[in-house]
Amino acid sequence: MLRSLFCVSIVLILASLTSAQEPWKTAVGGLFDVDPAERIWFQDASAFQPRSKPRGKSVDYYLSNWHQTPTDQRRVVVLRWLETPPSSWDSLLVCRYLRAFFQLPVRVEYDLERPIQGLNEGKYSAERLQSRLLKTMPDDAFVLIGLTAQDIYSEDNGPGYLLFGQGHYYNRTAVASLYHMKSSDTRLFQHRVFKLLSHEIMHTFSVEHCGFFHCLMNPSGSIEESDARPLLLCPVCLRKLHADLGFRLERRYRELLTAAQSALPGDATLLLRRLRLPSSK
Ligand SMILES: [Zn+2]
Ligand SMILES: [Zn+2]
Repeated sequence: MLRSLFCVSIVLILASLTSAQEPWKTAVGGLFDVDPAERIWFQDASAFQPRSKPRGKSVDYYLSNWHQTPTDQRRVVVLRWLETPPSSWDSLLVCRYLRAFFQLPVRVEYDLERPIQGLNEGKYSAERLQSRLLKTMPDDAFVLIGLTAQDIYSEDNGPGYLLFGQGHYYNRTAVASLYHMKSSDTRLFQHRVFKLLSHEIMHTFSVEHCGFFHCLMNPSGSIEESDARPLLLCPVCLRKLHADLGFRLERRYRELLTAAQSALPGDATLLLRRLRLPSSK
């Protein structure tokens, strides 16, 4: 009797240790509504580097709280330049990448007639840009992201703090500055723009920062930290987007691989590792 109790205790301790080591699996939660052939992308995180102290909001938490999702009438990702884009900007490449990432239609618009008001220490207020966008949200837009080549700042932190972009959790607007994305390496520039825009657009789905893995949704306080983030979403963040949009996972990865072919080798490897998961063979 004592021996069997001892064995049961060992099993329970081992089980609790195992789940304690993998909080991301708890965060992904049940996959009952996911096609069994596609569950692997949420169950295998081998391509992602775990954080030393994993934490973050679970998928259940995300789904049980109010958050923004596209509808049939309102599902276009609209990029709107608020000034003339720099010559390094490539609408075709960026649209193709974001279309693959979100599996939603993407459009570029220009609002060049009205100059941007209110420079503070050479930077635009992200909140002021976002309130301008909010007033002119197209009827078919899920998200409207304003683009500028000028530096921006958040009014919460002031112009002394670095800000690359800001996506609003609830009102479907975002703003992104290409000011710090500049590089003489065209591939690096594209790679930075892909990451910046997809990260900020993810926030407009009310998805918060991720602390489970080295993931696109990690916060970044410097261009080095931003460069160190991968191009892809970890299984927890991917599941949040997938629960809202219900896209086919393998098709999305294949399209991303094509769209990101100019990306840096580390991310190409990450994409290929995801595509080599058993169900896609
Ligand atoms: Zn962020
Ligand atoms: Zn993540």
